[in-house]
Amino acid sequence: MPKFVYDFTEGNKDLKDLLGGKGANLAEMTNLGLPVPPGFTITTEACRHYLEHGNPPGGLAEEVDRHLAALEAQMGKRLGQSDDPLLVSVRSGAKFSMPGMMETVLNVGLNDESVHGLAEQSGDERFAWDSYRRLIQMFGKTVLGIDGDLFEDAVEAAKDARGTKDDADLRAEDYRGLVERFKAIVREQAGRDFPSDPREQMDLAVRAVFDSWNADRAILYRRQERIPVDLGTAVNICSMVFGNLGADSGTGVAFTRDPASGQQGVYGDYLQNAQGEDVVAGIRNTVPLTELERIDKDSYDRLLEIMETLENHYRDMCDIEFTIERGKLWMLQTRVGKRTAAAAFRIACQLLDQDLIDVDEAARRVTGDQLAQLMFPRFAAGDQGSDAVKKLVRGMNASPGAAVGKAVFTTERAVELAGRGEDVILVRRETNPDDLAGMVAAKGVLTSRGGKTSHAAVVARGMGKTCVCGAEDLDVDVKGGRFTAPGGITVKEGDVISIDGSSGDVYLGEVPVEDSPVVRYFEGGLAADGGDELVAAVDRIMRHADGRAALDVRANADNPEDAARARRFGAAGIGLCRTEHMFLGDRRRLVEELILAEDAGQRQTALDALEPLQKQDFEGIFEAMDGLPVTIRLIDPPLHEFLPDITELSVKVGLAGDGADPQDRRLLDAVTRLHEQNPMLGLRGVRLGLVIPGLFSMQVRAIAEAAAARRRAGGDPRPEIMIPLVGAVQELEAVRDEARGILDEVKDATGVDVPALIGTMIELPRAALTARQIAEAAEFFSFGTNDLTQTTWGFSRDDVEAAFFSRYLELGIFGVSPFETLDRDGVGRLVRIAAEEGRKARPGIKLGICGEHGGDPDSVHFCHEVGLDYVSCSPFRIPVARLEAGRAAI
Ligand code: ADP
Ligand code: MG
Ligand code: MG
Repeated sequence: MPKFVYDFTEGNKDLKDLLGGKGANLAEMTNLGLPVPPGFTITTEACRHYLEHGNPPGGLAEEVDRHLAALEAQMGKRLGQSDDPLLVSVRSGAKFSMPGMMETVLNVGLNDESVHGLAEQSGDERFAWDSYRRLIQMFGKTVLGIDGDLFEDAVEAAKDARGTKDDADLRAEDYRGLVERFKAIVREQAGRDFPSDPREQMDLAVRAVFDSWNADRAILYRRQERIPVDLGTAVNICSMVFGNLGADSGTGVAFTRDPASGQQGVYGDYLQNAQGEDVVAGIRNTVPLTELERIDKDSYDRLLEIMETLENHYRDMCDIEFTIERGKLWMLQTRVGKRTAAAAFRIACQLLDQDLIDVDEAARRVTGDQLAQLMFPRFAAGDQGSDAVKKLVRGMNASPGAAVGKAVFTTERAVELAGRGEDVILVRRETNPDDLAGMVAAKGVLTSRGGKTSHAAVVARGMGKTCVCGAEDLDVDVKGGRFTAPGGITVKEGDVISIDGSSGDVYLGEVPVEDSPVVRYFEGGLAADGGDELVAAVDRIMRHADGRAALDVRANADNPEDAARARRFGAAGIGLCRTEHMFLGDRRRLVEELILAEDAGQRQTALDALEPLQKQDFEGIFEAMDGLPVTIRLIDPPLHEFLPDITELSVKVGLAGDGADPQDRRLLDAVTRLHEQNPMLGLRGVRLGLVIPGLFSMQVRAIAEAAAARRRAGGDPRPEIMIPLVGAVQELEAVRDEARGILDEVKDATGVDVPALIGTMIELPRAALTARQIAEAAEFFSFGTNDLTQTTWGFSRDDVEAAFFSRYLELGIFGVSPFETLDRDGVGRLVRIAAEEGRKARPGIKLGICGEHGGDPDSVHFCHEVGLDYVSCSPFRIPVARLEAGRAAI
């Protein structure tokens, strides 16, 4: 039988799968000799069993008995012992930290008898009754599912009766009264008495933690963070230490470095005479951790020492929860801390400089998603002083970025307005897990309470969402839908505000945004050694990634400007140049003539008019990508995309009656003739080239002539001609032979020989499955994974995304849209087959990918695993793909 319970002395930090993050790290700290209150952990395996079967695994109860007995022996008192009770906390802890998602119950073991024992032992009656009422409150809320407001209201009533607004003024008898009141609330709401048996309290709390794995907001958080649904959570039973035993006690949270900037120093919040959640809940105002030096120098020094021990041990920035009980410091939690994207890059390089990690590890410590965040625009310096905007206040810079939107005060409104496509900023006094949906919907989050470790700050950082928290000078009136800033300025729902997550500034009005320094660095406008620590860190890690990468990164670019930008961003060529974009605008008229042509002569005239224009386009792109490969895809979409809308045109012709323009009539005939039920699967790609004589030839000629012209001008063009939507090798052969003929003609006519590869896209399942045949005729494959995803799943992207994808995600049919991250099992399998078969027929065949997946981190890793030669993505994603290509190779 598996072991379901581990004492803190038995585990270690690598057992996160089994003990959860909290349990594994409590064990690690225990074994480092740090002061952790003794306890034990019930494994995730026990939780999974419970979730699957509805009851705990056999043998668990006995194992818990044994560990509890050992804990009692060690502590010299029994759980809930009436004259001197052992009290414990029951704490959830999954493998991935899910801030605020799961519930914790403190002070388990108190009842009508042991509360007296606790009062006796501590010599503090008030403390004992406060602890007891907290137990009933937390137990009532999280285990029995009672609305927490009922308890809060009772506390408020007690304070009113005492004529105070501060918990600190409540006396022992007030808390005693609250205990009675709370017990009555439990009876009324849950239809049962608060359980007085300590072991029953503990067992019910353990179950509640197991159950909380499937709480709505836990499910939502996991979906948001792409955490697998079936991991389950561990449960930690930890002997209690008390921060609410007077002024020489307290509780706090700390980071070993600033989680926003990465700077080393003392970062955190401390709250005197308080227990557990009080700090993070933002209920009372905390003091900065540096104040602890004044309050309790010994504990402060010891804490700093421990923070250094932890950083050196974990070789990373850690966050910490601690409690001081009458001058004695206890560690209650640590983990590798969440951080902003900028801090991730900075910290990785700082640790590298401290020789704590090597450069491979530094690259592992950052992600493409973080790099993408750093490329977001930010507020333009200087513009905040303009008349259109007014600075209201400075709060804490909890999560960077620049967000502009309408102020909203509830999750419901945030979701509603965002659903209509409006940008909103969620403004709250503080957030709690119920606000998650609103935070997801909002561009940014602003709170008036809570520090950098408050729920709002932690969750926003995790989501990469801009957040300013603890703007205490704001008076937020959620019910009234407004807040008031110093100077009496009132901001109502719907007023536009701007928040700067990097400085903490809050503005009324819309502040203009500008490019980030990281983008300016990539653009070549900011030197790596120009003194910006972040830019230097990005530069250092990018260089290493480039050195490691096996994949090239190319760009999807259709014009010289994009090509030039892509090149500055480090593109190794163009992987997809879509030629249909060159058929729009003024040229649409020429395309119309091509479609309306009634004979070969008319058609040729239209093609002849288009050709020099295409040639110009290609010359510009070859010039921008001189010396690098440029893959040009021949025209792909159905021709009616270049004609007017059928409904509009019918109405126009119909209304004009006999007086209708003859050109309109001809157009309408053509539109009607070309109309397709399902254009995605209709006359497009190679099929067009085979059906409309001269169209592909014109394009190939334009490519060849542009290349020849560039060569004559001293350039080094490297064209690759790509045929879309091939399903059978015969299609490709026909087009290839025609294209080869034209390339030869141009060579003879110009006297310049520019070699051009001819290859195909693999974007139909049949192409993937017959890749061996197709490779006989193709010098390269480029996986068009957008279409390959559509054709493999049999759904059209435009139709399904809005219609049912959210439902599919909800049902867990896929964890992420297959258009965002390549579906490894299905589409990915086709890619693997085609790559293998293609290589068999043509060893060394060039393989790339040009769907949007080329810029998605997970998909880049997949392409590396399959051994493709390159990925191609939009110019802005190139740095992300470069970084991930390097990380994939490490
Ligand atoms: P979360 O995962 O939400 O942080 P925790 O299990 O860490 O939940 O507990 C919530 C709060 O209670 C934290 O502030 C924690 O430090 C405190 N706490 C948990 N266990 C104990 C204990 N045994 N003694 C004192 N405080 C505790
Ligand atoms: Mg915690
Ligand atoms: Mg396609």
